[in-house]
Amino acid sequence: MAWREMTLTGWGRVHQARSRAARPERLSELQRALKGAEGTVAGVGAGRSYGDVGLNGGGSALLTTRLDRFLSFDEATGELVAEPGVTWRDLLDTFLPRGYLAPVTPGTAFATLGGGVANDVHGKNQETAGSLGDHVNWLDILTASGEVVRASRDQNADMFRATVGGIGLTGIVTGISLTMARVPGNTALVHSRRLPDLDSTLAALMEPRPGQPYTVAWVDALAGGRELGRGILEAAGPADGFVPEKQAKSLAMPLDLPGFVLGKAGVRAFNALYWRRVSAAGSEARVPWRKFLYPLDAILHWNRMYGRQGFHQFQCVVPHAGGPYAIRRLLEAFGRAGRGSFLAVLKAMGRPGPGDLSFAMPGLTLAVDIPNRPGVEELLRELEHITLDAGGRVYLAKDSALTPDAFRAMYPDLPRFRETLRRWDPEGRFETDLARRLRIREGA
Ligand SMILES: Cc1cc2nc3c(=O)[nH]c(=O)nc-3n(C[C@H](O)[C@H](O)[C@H](O)COP(=O)(O)OP(=O)(O)OC[C@H]3O[C@@H](n4cnc5c(N)ncnc54)[C@H](O)[C@@H]3O)c2cc1C
Repeated sequence: MAWREMTLTGWGRVHQARSRAARPERLSELQRALKGAEGTVAGVGAGRSYGDVGLNGGGSALLTTRLDRFLSFDEATGELVAEPGVTWRDLLDTFLPRGYLAPVTPGTAFATLGGGVANDVHGKNQETAGSLGDHVNWLDILTASGEVVRASRDQNADMFRATVGGIGLTGIVTGISLTMARVPGNTALVHSRRLPDLDSTLAALMEPRPGQPYTVAWVDALAGGRELGRGILEAAGPADGFVPEKQAKSLAMPLDLPGFVLGKAGVRAFNALYWRRVSAAGSEARVPWRKFLYPLDAILHWNRMYGRQGFHQFQCVVPHAGGPYAIRRLLEAFGRAGRGSFLAVLKAMGRPGPGDLSFAMPGLTLAVDIPNRPGVEELLRELEHITLDAGGRVYLAKDSALTPDAFRAMYPDLPRFRETLRRWDPEGRFETDLARRLRIREGA
């Protein structure tokens, strides 16, 4: 197994880490690589997490993208068994023509299933479908001892709970059994409507919508006063029939944009135009799942848009009780700092995630990109406080700034997670920059 010094980077490009990296192609190679790895080890997927959750500076990185085989598929039950490097794009290309869609997907198809399990990712249908872990039947995990163990709700249940959303700290996921969802076609019927303020955006988000399990609101994070929280609501459900899909060519962001392009005035103008693109009366369109689920994937390397300094993404979830007030405070904080960007997304969550460190809880989740400029730390600290006050939590897949105290308060099942780490990895073989920053292993 060849090892190479590499610099790995979070998707937001603020955090980087030098690691010794290996890219095994088979389970046996992965096992050998773990045995031969120097120091601490982190599993790495497609590098689509924004901050430092997938980095392990000074240690070893096991890159899983070539462990990307489908191992079995049962047409009758929809049960798929796959290696961790399989991406949502692979799932879409292979299974959508056969009438199956991933039950849950993040907003990028480039993420791997292994990375998705480690963050217990959620999609636009979280309110009804829950998060990824809710659809996982079992996991095979290469543990610190070098042994592969199977974990499910009934077998090694502590390991299952700790691995789903466990940000890679229990071991390397080597196999995933997942139940795929049946769909009647390859398109979604998408209703879009424009909403003038936060109250109407939140009310629309919470309306019961039979037949439309996918919902997302795009919010203008820089609008203030009476227009605070104005947005566009998209609600979608599966449409019947297969239509030929045009192979859209992906565009690529060719270079780092200079900082001034993302100045406050430019972003304000863009957001105002974007909001007006949908009429107040609303519209309906049949849209390929690929386009509806992964709008950002159409532009490769879009993260270069924020220039060399990179960007943070802040994402939190706040419980329904007090949630609207907290969302208002968060948007006001962005407005005051003039730091919001194009991509502010609001979704409703309906179910807690099944993992000890799962992010999901019933409530409202807000995600906003923030260009990395002087003063950003103060803003992130303020957002952390508002989230804590509301009884919410920050998403580790996006985080790069949370403090250990806030993390402990936001993730009440941390003691149980640590107990499981003590049992399965007493010497702390698996480690990441985020885990060190948040002192996750302290006491484990
Ligand atoms: C455009 C965009 C949209 C997104 N939208 C959403 C969204 O809607 N919902 C959402 O939940 N997330 C979303 N995300 C975040 C993304 O889905 C998650 O960060 C996901 O976990 C990334 O997967 P990855 O393969 O890139 O993993 P990486 O980022 O490489 O790693 C993530 C974590 O998984 C661990 N890991 C990776 N592989 C394994 C393995 N085989 N075994 C054990 N641990 C492993 C790593 O150690 C790390 O802790 C989005 C990201 C982008 C860029």
